[in-house]
Amino acid sequence: MLMTRNYFGFIPGYALFWGVFAIALLLFAYRIRQLLQYMFLGQKETGYKSWGKWISTTFAYVFSQLCQLKNFRFKKDRAPLGHALMAWGFFVFVLFYFFFFILAQGFGFAGLENTGFFYYFAWVMDFMAVFIIIGAGWGLIRRFIIRPARLKGGQTIEAFIILLSVFTHPFAFLFNQATVIAMGEAPAGLGHTILPPFSSWLSHLFTGSALTVIQNWHIAFFWTDWLTVLLVLVYIPYSRYLHVIASIFNGIFEPRLPKGALKPIDLEHAEFLGIPTIDKLTWKQNLDLYACVVCGNCQEQCPAFTTGKPLNPKKVIQDLKKQLLIAGPDLVKAKAKGEPAPENVNVTLAGKVILEDEIWACTTCGACDTTCPVWVKHIDKIVDLRRNLVEQSILPETAKATLQSIERRGHPWRGTTLNRTDWAKGMNIKTLAEDPKVDILYWVGCTEALDERGIKIAQSFAKLMQQAGVNFGILGTEESCCGDPARRLGDEMTYQAQAQKNIEVLKGYNVKKIVTGCPHCYNTIKNEYPQFEGNFEVIHHTELIGDLLKQGKIKIGKGDYGSITFHDPCYLGRHNDIYRQPREILKELPGTKMVEMEKNRKRAFCCGGGGGRLWLEERIGQRISENRIDQVISTKAQLVATACPYCLQMFEDAIKTKQAQDTLKVKDIAELIAESSAK
Ligand code: SF4
Ligand code: SF4
Repeated sequence: MLMTRNYFGFIPGYALFWGVFAIALLLFAYRIRQLLQYMFLGQKETGYKSWGKWISTTFAYVFSQLCQLKNFRFKKDRAPLGHALMAWGFFVFVLFYFFFFILAQGFGFAGLENTGFFYYFAWVMDFMAVFIIIGAGWGLIRRFIIRPARLKGGQTIEAFIILLSVFTHPFAFLFNQATVIAMGEAPAGLGHTILPPFSSWLSHLFTGSALTVIQNWHIAFFWTDWLTVLLVLVYIPYSRYLHVIASIFNGIFEPRLPKGALKPIDLEHAEFLGIPTIDKLTWKQNLDLYACVVCGNCQEQCPAFTTGKPLNPKKVIQDLKKQLLIAGPDLVKAKAKGEPAPENVNVTLAGKVILEDEIWACTTCGACDTTCPVWVKHIDKIVDLRRNLVEQSILPETAKATLQSIERRGHPWRGTTLNRTDWAKGMNIKTLAEDPKVDILYWVGCTEALDERGIKIAQSFAKLMQQAGVNFGILGTEESCCGDPARRLGDEMTYQAQAQKNIEVLKGYNVKKIVTGCPHCYNTIKNEYPQFEGNFEVIHHTELIGDLLKQGKIKIGKGDYGSITFHDPCYLGRHNDIYRQPREILKELPGTKMVEMEKNRKRAFCCGGGGGRLWLEERIGQRISENRIDQVISTKAQLVATACPYCLQMFEDAIKTKQAQDTLKVKDIAELIAESSAK
């Protein structure tokens, strides 16, 4: 039944249909244009390629709702399922409105309603309407009654309007269909014998009513249905509904970088470092701000937020978005006139919009980026804010001293009495200067070479390689800090100087393959040195130990460590997806039982040492490492194994502070296997 063929007073249905549609589209387009203008105030982005792969992956994630369902946990968080139900319903509804409202009602393709296609679609829609009601009803209850911590601050009028519109709209649809059935104009196909169950059931409410009454109800529901759709359309760009569009583009335009890598700055030509003001974000960083749906997943996973620091990744994104929307109109006007950005609105971000304590609290652990369902990147913005602070020399004293140490001595351990080869004394380990013809370079890293506790990892791993007959060498005094702490503390200049110096040395010895026990060195050399034409095959020591065990070149002796839990280092796990190898190695230890912490693998909790934080004071809130050690203690494990010298050091301190030395030990996997194979 075509509503658009009716007259409403003297107004033809067509005019009403297209009139309100045109107004809605104009309001929608007006705001989208504004948002695009603000977005493209941003700086250029480069490096886009492999379009097919990114488009197909994004659509696969969105349509399957894996982007949400990856966070589903049956006992802890079922909200992603609610979102998936709403989203699947939304996709089907969009198709329905295209075919049966725009084409059928708008363009008069009345025949569409008399096809088997319509019949089957009506069935699917019937179920989808119920899915959406369940999903949105669940969302309303969670957000406004249960109020989980991660939605704190998100119970806004906006969220209410969105959920209410999503919740009520399917009712209008179902009643619209019910009146059609009650009028005896049920969807065609299969001889009208089996009708869509929910709308069919609702049609009984009209039994006994006169046809004209039902027709009037039908008109009312049809227009309620259509007007709700148009209201939602208009509300999309004015609210966080925007994520339904922005998130798809955000996925497609994800930076083509390895997961753990930061973008380099072209220091020779850069007019500014990092993001001093909102117009200095790139357009893709602005798109991130539009995509955020304020779900709070990042907040929930953030170790800094969890331990009471002022940093909340969700708030960082929302604060930047607010600033973009505030400054946007004046910046667009100034740009159009070719005038400089007005300083009263284009305020300094670091210290004003995002506070310094927020900026320095980040460990760059990647929990936020990994959990975000809409591909928002937080670390790049936080490091960009640090870059700007460093440019102005506004940084904590300890960070300053660390950076100076890297610059002057080539390592961040300013108080160390060791030199780079002390750990190898008496071990008969050659340097590449002595013999460059090795199969693999052992990149020791500053912490395993220069920290009293860290050197035990280097010694253990070197012994394992010697036992297995690996032909390896070290750089010795020619090795210098890989630059990870400098880059993540925001000092891109020092980082690039370190990277270039190291690449030159490595190329000088024609190094092809590198093994390291430090996930930070691993990530930097593997994922970031290619930005400076340093291309090497890099493996982590857990990968090499695992291979040597499989080949029988390392023999496991006794184990008997009792109960062991494994802590996933962020730069090994989340940033580089190495989860399996460490666990496989630990399972080889006889007499040892592996227990998992609740927060493991992708959801692992940071040790607190990444992002240069190993060298900064942790003044606010609980120490992140102590929180993680509490998680270890709750497993009743006697030993926490790790595969990173930063984690090891953080946990040694935390165990001492908690006076748990008698019941809990921390060891690197290399130490455990070396001990076991020596027995
Ligand atoms: S990287 Fe880690 S510490 Fe930094 S904001 Fe994200 S979750 Fe928080
Ligand atoms: S940034 Fe991502 S995870 Fe964080 S609130 Fe926004 S959508 Fe959710």
